[in-house]
Amino acid sequence: MAVLIDGKKISAQIKEECREKAARYREQGIQITLAVVQVGKDPASTVYVNNKKKACEYVGIRSLPYELDENVSQEELLALVERLNQDSAVNGILVQLPLPAHIDENKVIYAISPEKDVDGFHPYSVGALSIGLKGYVSCTPAGVIQLLKRTGIEIAGKNCVVMGRSNIVGKPMSMLLLRENGTVTVTHSKTENLKEITRQADILVVAVGKPRFVTADFIKEGAVVIDVGIHRNADNKLCGDVDFDSVKEKAGAITPVPGGVGVMTVAMLMCNCIASVEINERA
Ligand code: NAP
Repeated sequence: MAVLIDGKKISAQIKEECREKAARYREQGIQITLAVVQVGKDPASTVYVNNKKKACEYVGIRSLPYELDENVSQEELLALVERLNQDSAVNGILVQLPLPAHIDENKVIYAISPEKDVDGFHPYSVGALSIGLKGYVSCTPAGVIQLLKRTGIEIAGKNCVVMGRSNIVGKPMSMLLLRENGTVTVTHSKTENLKEITRQADILVVAVGKPRFVTADFIKEGAVVIDVGIHRNADNKLCGDVDFDSVKEKAGAITPVPGGVGVMTVAMLMCNCIASVEINERA
């Protein structure tokens, strides 16, 4: 039976550390401020945005909400981002994704100053990660690294398989594991002999976006299994990309859903906000 990797406990520790750092900055007269931009009223986005605002409040980061109408034009949104870029009182800018179809998400991401890119999605941040410079790292994969490290799981030298190659999870995840000296393989929807590859993994990170896709036959006995997926089933219960009940019997360690990776994302956003003051704090 696998050891449960406790995202709730680890994310609480990280938020506590951020709270102490934010308080020290306040003593020096620095109030960290995060601008949170939401376009429209998508219920899932509203939940995420509210969680982020709550975490800011706890940590002692000021959040400035910008709630824009669903029909706001791309030009208006870009103008707001530019104003926030220029505003020296704003340290970080977060534009909640997804944006409505009439807005080009990439244009908005590129418009955010790399200095304020606390989501780590700007090509500058992604490039910095890939060439080993300090920078903002996408919160979810950064959270996975913290889960592994703070549970005492060695990454160096291990066979790490990342299932999924999205820009916000799979790709940065693979770069981070590589930076930690893992031997990394990335799989995707065109991968042949998928299970043969995943069964080689000492550490398997699953971000395929398919409920309970990974069953016990995907994994090696004793592997560490990290489930990034979040889905709601017909009974409105949360589940991940991993079939937790069967996999936990074979894995050495596993993250639950909820209480695993999901709660880490907001904690890592808080770290990125703290790091907006000081480049050496960046990952
Ligand atoms: P995504 O953009 O949909 O990417 C899914 C990836 O999985 C793609 O690279 C896709 O391959 C690959 N894939 C799909 N079917 C596959 C298959 N049968 N075999 C192997 N690979 C397959 O999803 P995402 O944004 O990375 O998110 C992944 C999951 O994590 C979702 O459940 C999402 O809700 C969750 N998520 C959670 C958090 C959090 O805070 N915990 C944050 C972000 C995302 P192709 O590239 O070939 O299409």
